[in-house]
Amino acid sequence: MKTSKSDRRQDSVLRSAIDRIRQDADRLTNSCKIYQETLKELCQITGSPEGFVIEASTEDQFPKLLVTHPVATKTKALDLPYEFKEGIGRLSTLLSSAKPEIFNHPDKSIIDLSFLDLPPIKRMIAIPLIDHDNFYAIICLTNSRLPYEISIVSRCKPLLATSARMQRTLGFKQLSTPNESKWCKTLEDLFQNSQMPMICIDGEQKILRMNIAAEESFLTTLSSSREKLVTEFVYDNMSDGVRSIPLNPNHIDTSTPRRLSLTGRQSLGRTFPILVTSISYQIEQQPEKAALLMIDVSPTHQSLDRQQHDQAQRFQAVSDLAPIGILQSNATWEAEYVNNRWCDICGHDRNEILGLGWINSIHPDEVTRFLESLRETLFSGNEFNGECRFMTPIGNTVWVQFQARPLIDQQGVSCGFSATLLDTTYRKITEEKLKKLAEHDSLTGLSNRPMFHQRLEHALDRMERQGPFALLCLDLDGFKNINDTLGHDSGDLLLIEIAKRLVDCVRSEDTVARLGGDEFMILIEGLPDSSVAANVAEKILSSLEQPTIIGNQEIFISTSIGITFATGQGKCDAKNLIKQADIALYRAKEDGRNNYQYFSPELEEASKARLLLGNSLYRAMKQSEFEVFYQIQAKVSNNQPVGTEALLRWQHPDKGLLAPTAFIPLLEESGLIGPVSRWLWKQAFTDHKRWVDQGLLPEDSHVSINLSPRQLRDSQLIISLESAMAEAGIVSSQVVVELTESSLIADSNTTSQTLRNIKNLGVRLALDDFGTGYSSLTYLKRFSIDIIKIDRTFVQDILTDTDDVAIIQALLALSKSLSITTVAEGVDAAEKLNMLAKWGCELHQGYLLNKPCGSKKLEALLQSACEAGQ
Ligand code: C2E
Ligand code: CA
Ligand code: CA
Repeated sequence: MKTSKSDRRQDSVLRSAIDRIRQDADRLTNSCKIYQETLKELCQITGSPEGFVIEASTEDQFPKLLVTHPVATKTKALDLPYEFKEGIGRLSTLLSSAKPEIFNHPDKSIIDLSFLDLPPIKRMIAIPLIDHDNFYAIICLTNSRLPYEISIVSRCKPLLATSARMQRTLGFKQLSTPNESKWCKTLEDLFQNSQMPMICIDGEQKILRMNIAAEESFLTTLSSSREKLVTEFVYDNMSDGVRSIPLNPNHIDTSTPRRLSLTGRQSLGRTFPILVTSISYQIEQQPEKAALLMIDVSPTHQSLDRQQHDQAQRFQAVSDLAPIGILQSNATWEAEYVNNRWCDICGHDRNEILGLGWINSIHPDEVTRFLESLRETLFSGNEFNGECRFMTPIGNTVWVQFQARPLIDQQGVSCGFSATLLDTTYRKITEEKLKKLAEHDSLTGLSNRPMFHQRLEHALDRMERQGPFALLCLDLDGFKNINDTLGHDSGDLLLIEIAKRLVDCVRSEDTVARLGGDEFMILIEGLPDSSVAANVAEKILSSLEQPTIIGNQEIFISTSIGITFATGQGKCDAKNLIKQADIALYRAKEDGRNNYQYFSPELEEASKARLLLGNSLYRAMKQSEFEVFYQIQAKVSNNQPVGTEALLRWQHPDKGLLAPTAFIPLLEESGLIGPVSRWLWKQAFTDHKRWVDQGLLPEDSHVSINLSPRQLRDSQLIISLESAMAEAGIVSSQVVVELTESSLIADSNTTSQTLRNIKNLGVRLALDDFGTGYSSLTYLKRFSIDIIKIDRTFVQDILTDTDDVAIIQALLALSKSLSITTVAEGVDAAEKLNMLAKWGCELHQGYLLNKPCGSKKLEALLQSACEAGQ
């Protein structure tokens, strides 16, 4: 359809009308003002001297008169006459089909504006102001010179559309509903705030709008350059001085923006190279316009640009290479930038992280707490630095160090944050391992000594609130033997098994610790009553009754347990409590092991005494407080002495003469048993040699010495024994070593080897206290025992106890069959000796012959025995 000249003229009038309304958009904050402007422009275009706008009908109310022209309405204050309301009500209904209507001879009943001092309406066109989903108002133009034609409506459509859109935008602004208003605002913001100079021109290349960047670039203002030709500022220098550019939007293919290398000219005349991209656009039915986007490519500008570009590139490179994750968010905490490393750490794609997706990486257990503390810190303007757990999509936990700093824009308003992420999983795992190592026993996984002490201190601190607690000290019985016999690997397996059983015997909140070797401690807090500790102890003892299978061997082990309570009374500190439990444990050991004992002050006294005694052993050594006592061993048949047994005594300065049972364990514990024994051998062997030399004892007589189990593990034993014999000048056949069965039970390689070595020296072996232990025949054979000493507990009652008689008779028969010599111990009466003679016992020893005595006294005894025999 061709447009006529007058049409075109009208178009340009219309365009300027639209632009006027649009350019004043910011001022038109109220919908009535927009109607007022629209009405004014429409009246002008249609040659209507008057007009008015009425509100579109709402269902239950009469529409209102909004504005009038040329008189500004005071509708709000005006009480509209009923007829008027009626009239526009009907008009509204009439136009509800959204079609314009022409009234060339309007019925007075439809509308009567006489009350507004407007001339009577002769003709009128009513145009609904609508867009696709809103019916805003009805614009009525009146009394044009020529009759109204409906075509005027389509011609004015761009203006109507602009007005409608402005109403819509305003509506959005007022309702602050999202989408469109946001979009318009965004575009407007983009235009106003763009660093890039932008100019909008119409089809005639006249400047319509210009942003601040353009004002700055061309050193001009919008008000001074509006309506001016854009070629005043941008032109093509190459086209023979002709200042024209092919910018006319009507010539531009709208689908592809055009890019031109032109010359920019500032108002003061300076020129500079400029790159112009022209984008044409059309709003509704309005004529096409063009937006010119410009880049100043003069060297100064370019270098600034390049600097920015270089900087961006450098940031990108550093950020991609950085071993830390980097993320940047906007004001609503949506990630807008994230580098590769961040993605790697989280195991998510960039797209999954951007927006609010980054929050999904935080471990579900921590996300609330983490976000809260992050928000709190950033909102108070501080830097956040925290460690937390992330979870990868496949469920792996990643420990991270999360650092964030709030971002503040030029107006000082918070606009998000930037964060860095460091994967600390390896460090965390190592730390945890080290902590575990530092706090736990590596073999059993139980708490170790330092950790136990810490728990104990803690328990003491909490005692006031939690009440008394119990401390159990355990030491396995004969573990050393097992270790020696089966080897350390088996010993370790046994300890692991025992640790498990101990843990099973207590509640999860109790502490079981291995303090080293075969020593364990148990801490039981929150005791309802003291019997709980005994229950636990009994549970442990019975749990250990079950053998442990290691390799294919069944191993039996028991434990002794000392128990003490922390009640808040007395000396209640960690050191003291451990000491008390230890004292009770010692008592349990003394009481035959495999039992438990409570600590008591009496026990403490005894333990103190023992300790004192132990301390004075060194002094005893130095000051020769030890002495050798002897007992004669003689033939049962004729009382002929065949040798002596050397027995150790301690002449204590305060306590008087002490029996070996009172201090031998202390000698063993302190390691003094070796030197003291060697001293004894020297004395005993020398005495023996002298008595033989004096003829008080026969050539083939012997001296018996006692060896404790511990001494059998002494690697220097054989050498010491040999040199003691050599020094004294006696031969090995004159020496008998007495051992108890418990020494043999261990049956370790070392013990067996030592016994073989003793035998190889030519020294005889006697099994002491026979009948009280295992009385095993295997030992007799395996270690080639020469002599058995029937324990005095059997001999004691042979006059009355028929059982003991039977046992002794059996033992005698047995030893005869194995060609082993028998010695009856503790023979203290002639009747007993007679009976033993009857049963064929070879040798005897006891108070009947002599009570143990010193060498001088014994010498005298031997002397008189000799004389008696001669
Ligand atoms: P033992 O080897 O069984 O020594 C015999 C113990 O029985 C001695 O006690 C002796 O005094 C006591 N005795 C002997 N005849 C009678 C009696 O007719 N009636 C009563 N009631 N008791 C009698 P003693 O001297 O106190 O020795 C105790 C134990 O100490 C010894 O038992 C021995 O196993 C150990 N012992 C003694 N001297 C040493 C030593 O030098 N080294 C080591 N390792 N142990 C020693
Ligand atoms: Ca003995
Ligand atoms: Ca004995």
